[in-house]
Amino acid sequence: MYHCHKFKADEIYRLAENELYTSRFLSIGFCPKCKKPVAEILEFRFDGEVNKEIFSGIDANTIMLCHAEEILCSLTHQNYKKTKSKPYGWVYGINKQLKNGKIKQYAADFYGNKELIKTC
Ligand SMILES: [Zn+2]
Repeated sequence: MYHCHKFKADEIYRLAENELYTSRFLSIGFCPKCKKPVAEILEFRFDGEVNKEIFSGIDANTIMLCHAEEILCSLTHQNYKKTKSKPYGWVYGINKQLKNGKIKQYAADFYGNKELIKTC
């Protein structure tokens, strides 16, 4: 992946194909220089065209959430079942407001794992 400079993706996900693109991948990681989350979409069209898009910071988070349902599997963690008990790899935050006005903050990953971080 590339942001401030080249770095290795933490995770590479295979995404479901759509009408235009037969092979789609989503790479995620943190830029080692500026520490921003970075998401890279790589799509191969049926006619050989390649579409590559890079998002960082809050946009990377948004892109991940947009594509979460299209993730088929992770190419980097073949045995990710082992990690089912805890959010693993790239996580995003979920805030849940309780009836008493308190907010529960969770870290969640794209395998559906959730971990309560704090209640405030
Ligand atoms: Zn950077």
